[in-house]
Amino acid sequence: MKNFTFFSIFLSFIAFSCISSNKNGDLEASQTPKFAIAIHGGAGTILKNSMSDSLETAYVNVLSQAVRAGHNILASGGSAIDAVGVSINILEDSPLFNAGKGAVFTNDQTNELDASIMDGSTLNAGAVAGVTQIKNPIDLARSVMEQSPHVFMYGVGAETFALEQGFTLVDPDYFYTQRRLDHLKRVQDAEKDVSTFYDPVLKGAKYGTVGCVALDQNGNIAAGTSTGGMTNKRFGRIGDAPMIGAGTYANNKSCAVSATGWGEYFIRGVAAYDIAAMIEYGGFDLDRATQEVIDHKIPDLGGDGGVIGIDALGNISMRFNTPGMYRAQIDTSGTLKVGIYKSDTLLTK
Ligand code: ASP
Repeated sequence: MKNFTFFSIFLSFIAFSCISSNKNGDLEASQTPKFAIAIHGGAGTILKNSMSDSLETAYVNVLSQAVRAGHNILASGGSAIDAVGVSINILEDSPLFNAGKGAVFTNDQTNELDASIMDGSTLNAGAVAGVTQIKNPIDLARSVMEQSPHVFMYGVGAETFALEQGFTLVDPDYFYTQRRLDHLKRVQDAEKDVSTFYDPVLKGAKYGTVGCVALDQNGNIAAGTSTGGMTNKRFGRIGDAPMIGAGTYANNKSCAVSATGWGEYFIRGVAAYDIAAMIEYGGFDLDRATQEVIDHKIPDLGGDGGVIGIDALGNISMRFNTPGMYRAQIDTSGTLKVGIYKSDTLLTK
């Protein structure tokens, strides 16, 4: 959390106590259990001078609402998996974020959504990709995890499974928003010119994604990620968000991670698992491990983006190498913090 500052609202709940490590390296709570949660709404070219006050307020409000909803689940003894799902549902239902309702358009002016979720206590996981009629893809990812012997389903097959599980399919028009269509047209115009195809500003404006990581009072952690992918994607392109180990990973022994950014690089870097492996096998702490991936590995490959992570002690790391990342957290002391830009100190509304 060194690379950004936050505004803080101190909530009424103050907690808790110490956690210790036993000889096996397992983490165990010694007194009152800790819990904490963090979310992101995507990293990218998010600049203060291209944001109106009202839009900024809208982002802060939805981020605060989403992180509080997950935190309420944890405060009442609910599971990290439940908290992740509830927080992500709120972000998916908002048109502001590139997930669910606000998903970006493909080259064909359709919306293809991806999501994944992982339970750090069991290493069970579920994922869906390329769904076009699922209002809340994170819920379907959870059903894949809990109600099937599989981990990853895509397209029509995933939607057939959804129907069998009692999901109601939405009309693909549900995902239509004028803002995203205008953005698609801008990206398509710009990409006609080969010289701007890899323009960093254009590239950074193409993605979004939402994610959540949580620690519950039983010491279990979980992670989830949901996205519309990258604007103007073609050929059934799938990014890192639904890929366990790339965009999402959780293991009680190390950490829970959700990523956002240029997915191809997070896949190639196996980013989320890489962070967990540095902790489990290399003795890194969470912040050092996210630093290694976001400040070195991903940019060295040529990519950009960010991650949020939490460990079984409730430490949170939120790191990104883009101008901004929508993000919020409620830490183990109950303090809510929300941020948007790289160095925002101004969101004290
Ligand atoms: N990582 C996502 C993808 O590549 C996009 C994003 O994070 O906004 O599909």
